[in-house]
Amino acid sequence: MLAEHYDALIVGSGEAGKYLAWHLGKSGKRVAVVERKLIGGSCPNTNCLPSKNEIWSAEVAHIVRHSEAFGSITGPVRIDMARVLARKREMVDGLVATHLDLFRQSGVALIMGHARFKAPRTVEVTLNAGGTATISGDQMFINVGTHATIPDVPGLAAAKPMTHVEILELGRLPGHLVVLGGGYVALEMAQAYRRFGAEVTILERGSQILSREDADIAEELTGLLRAEGVAIRLNTKVTRVAGRSGDRVTVETDDGVIEATDILVAAGRTPNTGGIGLELAGVRLDERGYIAVNDRLETDAAGTWAMGESAGSPEFTHAAFDDFRIIRDNLAGGNRSKVDRLIPSCLFTDPQLGRVGLSENEAKAQNIPVRVARHPVKGILRARTMSETRGFMKVLIGKDDCILGFAMLGPDASEIIATVQTAMLAEMRYQVLRDAIFAHPTMAEALGPLLSKV
Ligand SMILES: Cc1cc2nc3c(=O)[nH]c(=O)nc-3n(C[C@H](O)[C@H](O)[C@H](O)COP(=O)(O)OP(=O)(O)OC[C@H]3O[C@@H](n4cnc5c(N)ncnc54)[C@H](O)[C@@H]3O)c2cc1C
Repeated sequence: MLAEHYDALIVGSGEAGKYLAWHLGKSGKRVAVVERKLIGGSCPNTNCLPSKNEIWSAEVAHIVRHSEAFGSITGPVRIDMARVLARKREMVDGLVATHLDLFRQSGVALIMGHARFKAPRTVEVTLNAGGTATISGDQMFINVGTHATIPDVPGLAAAKPMTHVEILELGRLPGHLVVLGGGYVALEMAQAYRRFGAEVTILERGSQILSREDADIAEELTGLLRAEGVAIRLNTKVTRVAGRSGDRVTVETDDGVIEATDILVAAGRTPNTGGIGLELAGVRLDERGYIAVNDRLETDAAGTWAMGESAGSPEFTHAAFDDFRIIRDNLAGGNRSKVDRLIPSCLFTDPQLGRVGLSENEAKAQNIPVRVARHPVKGILRARTMSETRGFMKVLIGKDDCILGFAMLGPDASEIIATVQTAMLAEMRYQVLRDAIFAHPTMAEALGPLLSKV
């Protein structure tokens, strides 16, 4: 058995893990990263980028189907799911090649295999190429991520449902796709597959999709998705599943039975921390199975940090990237904390939902007095030029005239939130943004009329 010791041992090559590895490697440290499968983590391989790639294919399909309204007359439209899949795979292959280059340039040892913790700052790796290796480090950083939770519903696991991983490798169109869950992954995939041509039914246990979102936003998006033909059943509990996804499945709920061909489960995440011996490394888990860390992402074990989703950080790549920056800066003597970070989020449905800062629900729950203003997308001239007039903007203003929160359901929402986020970071009074001269006609221009309503 191979045994090697490094200055830094990183388990998992996700967003924070890989950036930390490249940074430490380039600064002359001996660094090893142990990765079982996904070079560069989930974002480029199975999550953000592949999903946005296929969502873009679905948007093209949608535009082509509606092109007559814009004056482009085409023939009958056919969707080639094999090509959709091939385009995604080409992108992922390119991203993996880029990652391998970056690993090579940084001098970091990328060890492909499954890690189990054996002692403080020490793992035993079952190598993908065969054999085992014991790898230890003066410092250890854990970035093992999460996986899709399969709810404990009779017959569900036996039906071999898809998660985001399998649906993004499908290459065929389901006849009728049932989606369990009403969060980001569920909604993005549901709309995309509807646009590719599948019948799609979303089953959501709660009284609205996007359970943490304000009701006005959830209702507007529900209406938009239903108008595209996505069936959404709220307050619906799945009680039993029979059959096999990919063939025929019967989904029993407390509100009737659905016959479908495929099931996608998008009902939350489970940390990849079970059964890998973290206790032998002195690393404590919280009651939900996430690695317990302090504000500086330090675990209970000496010289051991955790980052990304497995450390309970918000489930976004940009949050994981900031975890890397916290650890990098603190290793250099800084004192950065993960508390009070302003972390935006984007739902890549069409139209997109962008949000930054407090929601109205959160302001209410925290007893923070706010003034709220709304502006409809149909009032934005740029939106009129594109015939994309669905949705609205909403802003929350605090006592000191600073912006406390912003949400937008509308075209380019994922870009517009950056403008508002910048104003929030600068602690700018909202009047400055209101009176700014934005280019015409743009979506950002609507921040003026929105903020004039405060
Ligand atoms: C479908 C989908 C779409 C998403 N879209 C977005 C988006 O648009 N924008 C956004 O910001 N976020 C998005 N996310 C969330 C985002 O992908 C994650 O928050 C982000 O990738 C950070 O993950 P991480 O670094 O914590 O873990 P990961 O990237 O999953 O990294 C963990 C790594 O550890 C490896 N590993 C685990 N256990 C072991 C072990 N025992 N031994 C060796 N290796 C191991 C895994 O193989 C993996 O490569 C999406 C998520 C999903 C599911």
